[in-house]
Amino acid sequence: MKFIFITLFPELVEQACGHSILKRAADAGLLSVTCINPRDFTTDKHRTVDDTPCGGGVGMVLKPEPFSAAIAEAKKISPQGILIAFTPAGRTLCQSAVEKLAAKEQDIIFLCGHYEGFDERILAQADLKISIGDYVLTGGELPALVIMDAVSRFIPGVLGKAESAEDESFTASLLEYPQYTRPIDFSGAKVPDVLLSGNHAHIKRWRRKEAIRATYCLRPDLLAKADLLEGDGTLFLEILEELKGNEHE
Ligand code: SAM
Repeated sequence: MKFIFITLFPELVEQACGHSILKRAADAGLLSVTCINPRDFTTDKHRTVDDTPCGGGVGMVLKPEPFSAAIAEAKKISPQGILIAFTPAGRTLCQSAVEKLAAKEQDIIFLCGHYEGFDERILAQADLKISIGDYVLTGGELPALVIMDAVSRFIPGVLGKAESAEDESFTASLLEYPQYTRPIDFSGAKVPDVLLSGNHAHIKRWRRKEAIRATYCLRPDLLAKADLLEGDGTLFLEILEELKGNEHE
């Protein structure tokens, strides 16, 4: 899968992709990262990529010509690539959107903004406009890296067996159950007995119940969308009883 970043700060992207799982995946040829700098498509001696807002106001707006030329260059590398622009006004990213992007197995071209953001005529060229949350960042590079990281986890071979993408938080709209490793007793805080029992059915039930408990307690909004299974009702009633019991303690 090709990830093409249209960015004024390619070093930022290259640095972030040069480590750990993403680097291993790139070295293995499972994905590639290309940066295109709109500044390379300017024609004036100052290599200008921004200008003051029409109508007045503070800050600098990204100009349509160098960004449109950079988009055309990216489309030469990947004519079918889906063009994603980053803006706080975009649709908020979530795991199901990540999975949809991954399932398409289509290359992705990221349009990273900076300063006051894009001239609207650049944004109009995007297939998708995405925000990574209700806050404002200095640029679109970090959101682009967030998507690349999240999508890459679904590319076959990127994650080793030890790093499986199955059973993670947000799979089936539930948070993940609590995880433990050795030591069994850490300063008096012990790993739950069931996880040491070797009984796979009991472990599976405990994990399902704790995933429901975590989601109910921390992100009840997710439960409405959760893919609930037969038997989850019983687990849920047990959790409510336990929570009620804790209140009375
Ligand atoms: N003036 C813009 C506004 O008020 O909506 C903010 C521009 S922001 C300082 C510069 C760039 O960072 C944006 O063009 C966008 O590419 C990126 N950016 C900032 N916050 C973001 C967010 N929450 N999600 C995605 N991209 C964001």
